[in-house]
Amino acid sequence: MWRVLRKVSQIVREEMDATGAQECLLPQLQPAELWQESGRWDTYTKAEGIMFAFRDRQDRDVALGPTHEEVITTVAREMIRSYKQLPQHLYQIQSKFRDEIRPRFGLMRSREFIMKDGYSFHETAESLKETYAAMDQAYSNMFRRCGLDFVAVEADSGAIGGSGSQEFMVIADIGEDEIIYSPDEKYAANVEKAVSIPPEAIASPFERYEQRETPNTPTIATLAEFANCSPTAILKNVLYEAVYDTGLKILVLVSIRGDQDVNDVKLQNEISKLAPQFEANTVLAVDVPDADAQQKWAVKPLPLGYISPGLADDYIAKKEGIHPQFVRLVDQTAVDLKGFVTGADESGYHVFGANWGEQFELPKLVVDVRTAQAGDRAVHDPEQTLQVARGIEVGHIFQLGTKYSEAMGATFTNEAGKAQPFVMGCYGVGVSRLAQSAVEQRHDKDGIIWPVSIAPYHVVIVVPNINDAEAMAAAEKLYADCAAAGLEVLLDDRKERAGVKFKDAELIGIPYRVVTGRSLKQGKVEVVQRATKEAQELPLEVVVETLKGWVDEAIAR
Ligand code: ATP
Ligand code: MG
Repeated sequence: MWRVLRKVSQIVREEMDATGAQECLLPQLQPAELWQESGRWDTYTKAEGIMFAFRDRQDRDVALGPTHEEVITTVAREMIRSYKQLPQHLYQIQSKFRDEIRPRFGLMRSREFIMKDGYSFHETAESLKETYAAMDQAYSNMFRRCGLDFVAVEADSGAIGGSGSQEFMVIADIGEDEIIYSPDEKYAANVEKAVSIPPEAIASPFERYEQRETPNTPTIATLAEFANCSPTAILKNVLYEAVYDTGLKILVLVSIRGDQDVNDVKLQNEISKLAPQFEANTVLAVDVPDADAQQKWAVKPLPLGYISPGLADDYIAKKEGIHPQFVRLVDQTAVDLKGFVTGADESGYHVFGANWGEQFELPKLVVDVRTAQAGDRAVHDPEQTLQVARGIEVGHIFQLGTKYSEAMGATFTNEAGKAQPFVMGCYGVGVSRLAQSAVEQRHDKDGIIWPVSIAPYHVVIVVPNINDAEAMAAAEKLYADCAAAGLEVLLDDRKERAGVKFKDAELIGIPYRVVTGRSLKQGKVEVVQRATKEAQELPLEVVVETLKGWVDEAIAR
């Protein structure tokens, strides 16, 4: 695997260097001060924070870098003085540390992994866009050269921050990410970010407002069946609790059309936008409160499953650190509902025929927090029906803007002689995750089928019977000739049965296998292609040249 990682790194390096970016090496051990300056120390060390942080013997807080925006911004602040030095793009290939809650699938999500991370500095947004476009191209080149089947998708920018961002996804069923795409290939987005046109609502049959007893209908499905109406005539109200970096807890009530689901990432972004209103900087966590969590703030049992958008604020305890009113949000899908069915704030009861502006006040905060789904129509062309696929995120490119440079006071002198914050971009490739995703995408029941460009070796020469001196001599000569021709070659002369050697060669996925067996008598060897299992006999004189041709052709792709 180390040989594979070196090859992936080399492809990444070549594509980066071709854009004019410069390789460097930044410290993994980082002082807390830098993260306090950027305002990310708390987000990364508290609640669901993923940074390994600790105290040194001088009682200073330090951390192992999960990413390097803070370090590189400090370097730029100290070293780039003038617009004449811009743009700059520095990258490194190095181990990152993240205290993942659920590390899994080997290299796919580990707490120590290899990443290529690059950071660019610009005078203007236009200059950033040029580098961003060059990275889009460089990333596509890297993933193609690594033999991966991938797509570029619109992405959420998460805790890294900034405006535009794009992820590169390797299509695979075990992928942890869900991708929404249109068949015309004009739209693809991570579901965390995806937008779509929801299905049309079916008009509500309820014209008169009334409260009805609706026993055992805590879910939309049970209620729709009981009320004999479409879920699109129901208003669903979901309760969340959020904690800001100041420790303040707010209770958020989200109203959304019954057939739709709340997208946690979009919701977290909306709650994050409200932070200044509560004198906070960032939101640390957003959760659906379980019974224990409810007890910490609810003064009486909540009518769960029967909540209305007007749920009274007096459910909330008057306590320090808890905002005393519900923060009410309404999703776009619910704004135009008429005569809807919704909770009555009483267990076992709903109201029918309700309207905004009559029984319930429409929340001022109208947001898009719905989850786009397969079957929805595409925004760019409603004729297109969106589909879903699963993907493994192998790369992510961001237009950061001035988020870090402003927070950390990293400025340069512009042409007019004024101090101006750097416009920044950042670009990451999961080198070790990429290597494993190649395995996910290309394997069969017998093992790995490495793309030739990143295979640990190109050729394995198997000697079925090592006691056969002629076979050993032929194998050793082939081995030397392959190496001299620049092929990466393994010689399997272990004291094992031929069958074991063949199985191992397939398992570890070496693209071409050469067997010095019986046909040696006719001056031939057997050559087997791992991907297709196609076997052929080749005269000894042409073996090396044939293999070299195949390898060169495969790598050039
Ligand atoms: P994820 O959403 O999968 O946790 P991320 O969005 O947090 O990843 P980035 O900060 O964008 O990751 O990091 C850049 C790249 O590093 C990712 O695109 C991914 O390929 C890789 N990566 C991130 N976390 C891990 C990990 N725990 N193990 C292996 N590779 C990782
Ligand atoms: Mg990412």
